[in-house]
Amino acid sequence: MDSAIATPGPALAPWLQAQLGGLLGRRAHALLLQGPSGLGQYSLALSLAQAWLCEQPGEQGACGQCASCHLVGARGHPDLAVLMPETTLLELGWPMDEKSMDEIEAKKRKPSKEIRVEAMRQAILFSQRTASRGRGLVVLIYPAEDMNAVAANALLKTLEEPPGDTRFVLASEAAHQLLPTIRSRCQTHAMAWPAADAALKWLQSQASSVPGLANPSVAQSVLRLAGGRPDDALALAGNGPDAAQWARLPKAVAEGDATALAGFEPLQAVQVLQKLCHDLWAVRVQAEPRFFAAINLPAPPGPRALARWTQALAASARTAEHPFKADLMLEDLVSQARQVFQSSPAAAKARPA
Ligand SMILES: [Zn+2]
Repeated sequence: MDSAIATPGPALAPWLQAQLGGLLGRRAHALLLQGPSGLGQYSLALSLAQAWLCEQPGEQGACGQCASCHLVGARGHPDLAVLMPETTLLELGWPMDEKSMDEIEAKKRKPSKEIRVEAMRQAILFSQRTASRGRGLVVLIYPAEDMNAVAANALLKTLEEPPGDTRFVLASEAAHQLLPTIRSRCQTHAMAWPAADAALKWLQSQASSVPGLANPSVAQSVLRLAGGRPDDALALAGNGPDAAQWARLPKAVAEGDATALAGFEPLQAVQVLQKLCHDLWAVRVQAEPRFFAAINLPAPPGPRALARWTQALAASARTAEHPFKADLMLEDLVSQARQVFQSSPAAAKARPA
């Protein structure tokens, strides 16, 4: 996914391209791209950074051909600093400073899940340098809400009095978690939602990296499951469940079939079950399910059982990032689900004896 993002222009989804055009016209030293996860904050921020640094930018953004564009694509532009938690740097293929890399490779510590103040201090020093390629300096921060409090405070003064030709782009999937003082020093841009058909078309065009997406019903299922957010849908599809697995998942979970969640990370499994739970509540109140097709849903358990399940899943979500054993956790989740359905008169009636 990230290699496609690194090249400019055509690889950018059409709804992001439209937003990029508008953002390029803004004269701001700090922009905050905000919205729920999966709308393409990172891709848009990177395209914006690349366009700012490009030597022959057009109205559509970076040219994709010049030396600056190639340096951004190779993740080695001397005038671009990318500030991310170490886990995100690794995931998106950005280089890390040598000291941190050595420590992580020697297993002295785990990659950090937050933006550490050490990295922030380096970025602030960077922002005071003179640009080496004459197009100014850019600091990209993603996800901005992962700055810890010390790091965010260290950034404040620089955001308030930015050095001459340095621009900041902050991309956030939870802007409410940012310090209000950070938010107030940025111009904000609310990420636009793509139309459902545009998102579906884009998702199917990603079949070169996730072959299952060539199947329209898989693309449709994951998009639905991701609540219409394309990047989240792509991440879900990357786990490999095929159309048949998506379709049978709700009823298989209700029957306690552990293979229903095969291939999921524990946290994703919890999130999928939370969506199933949401849809079962919807069916109970005769509303449209949002994430799964109605025809694939089992009969919903009673409200008390559903309420207990909702609470139990919320508790699981808090521990799912560091499960003791991932496969045991998946089994527990499924057996918990089966109990919820067995405790329900509606479900008991629906099943043969
Ligand atoms: Zn260029």
